[in-house]
Amino acid sequence: MTPLRLGIDIDGTVTSPSSLLPHINNRFGSEFKLDDITDYSLTASFPMLDPKEFAAWFKEAEPEIYRTSPAHDFAKEILNKWNRLHELYYISARGLEVRDVTFGWFREHGIPYSHIELTGSHRKIEAAKKHGVEIFFEDKHDNAVDIHEEVGIPVLLFDAPYNRLPAPPGVVRVRDWREADNWIQKEFGTEKA
Ligand SMILES: [Mg+2]
Repeated sequence: MTPLRLGIDIDGTVTSPSSLLPHINNRFGSEFKLDDITDYSLTASFPMLDPKEFAAWFKEAEPEIYRTSPAHDFAKEILNKWNRLHELYYISARGLEVRDVTFGWFREHGIPYSHIELTGSHRKIEAAKKHGVEIFFEDKHDNAVDIHEEVGIPVLLFDAPYNRLPAPPGVVRVRDWREADNWIQKEFGTEKA
């Protein structure tokens, strides 16, 4: 297989989309489940929480949430397999203030990387263009559609209750990393080479 440069979001893509929930439930005395997160905006999903209080709490809790996030299903297995074939460029909206906890998480989970870029914003298009990534992996619906349309590359959208909106054919919904691997083999594998 020709080596590919892969652009990969971190939160909800390499990490589990339910990573936040135990922290939210612990802080706010709630019993929210992943199916309750029907909007990427958590304060839209949970209108009963005061948005200001939630935002202040989130900023403070962020490093601990990132430190304790479980990996998404089969992320370790597939990303280690891909690391032998491809370049793994992680492009995340996380800010530089969580740089250390982010690199520590990859080491601790044995998940390989060629490069990790923390953009501090959801504007990933420039980073994807700058690094010339050829496929993107994302869980935020509008990011997935924008990257597909503006960078002109396929985007694999990791399914979650908060991203179940219609998407163009170049945005391919997958449930986990094994499904992503199957798609890459089908599209770029030896049978097509
Ligand atoms: Mg994400």
